[in-house]
Amino acid sequence: MRITRALRFGIGALAIAAVATACGGGSSKSAAQHAADGKLTVGIKFDQPGIGLRDKDGSFAGFDVDVAKYVAGKLGVKPENITFKEAPSAQRETLIQNGQVDFIVASYSITDQRKEKVDFAGPYYIAGQDLLVRADNTDITGPDALKGKKVCSVKGSTPAQNLEKNYKDAQLQTYDTYSLCIEALKSGAMDAVSTDNVILAGYAAQSPGQLKLVNKPFTTEKYGIGVKKGDKESRDKINDAVEAMISDGSWKSTLEKDFAGTGFQIPTPPTVDRY
Ligand code: GLU
Repeated sequence: MRITRALRFGIGALAIAAVATACGGGSSKSAAQHAADGKLTVGIKFDQPGIGLRDKDGSFAGFDVDVAKYVAGKLGVKPENITFKEAPSAQRETLIQNGQVDFIVASYSITDQRKEKVDFAGPYYIAGQDLLVRADNTDITGPDALKGKKVCSVKGSTPAQNLEKNYKDAQLQTYDTYSLCIEALKSGAMDAVSTDNVILAGYAAQSPGQLKLVNKPFTTEKYGIGVKKGDKESRDKINDAVEAMISDGSWKSTLEKDFAGTGFQIPTPPTVDRY
């Protein structure tokens, strides 16, 4: 009798666990606790060459991927024990808040608005909003030349917010991902794509002679590693790892590797902000 009841309870608990998993219910453990268990789930971009890219064979490459691997290594987690999850711009805060990822390394600018929902380690890189146009374009020379132009950016991103607020003359269109914007730029449906220079440089390098970076950055985008709000332990450990990556030379060599042949100038590394 007792065994049957225990069995029934066990099956019930299993069913509840299955439902929770099916609903995408995240874990309540912190990033540091998951790392101590030897596994991490990290949010990255899947479609940004040089930054976070999922290759056809299912492997991942780019600076954010390398930063994630370096940080995971410092937390004691091997690269093969990292599960990479796609983190589109508009979903990043939610993924962290729901515990669906341990942390996010996805060209994620530190902003006061986002800090109301998540915390940031870093910055580990400083980018600037820029414009990408077709190679034969001569009239889009900077953000003040966007009057009446169709400009594509991504929902939930800081470049889209900036265009909406400060460049009202531009005809802004927002898509879910930058790769969709790039398609539209190539087809002629859009006149420009706007986001961070380092992201645009990656796309330009993939389409030489077809796309070009305007190369007039007009904002400062400090890339942080998003963690759950209030999880100081994980944030401190990630900050230690970012500092180590910069001081031991891996930061520079990794950027040089990820942007080899693109002509992209590697900037000076940032100073970690332990707010
Ligand atoms: N760094 C900007 C942001 O966090 C643009 C890049 C992106 O959307 O990932 O919104």
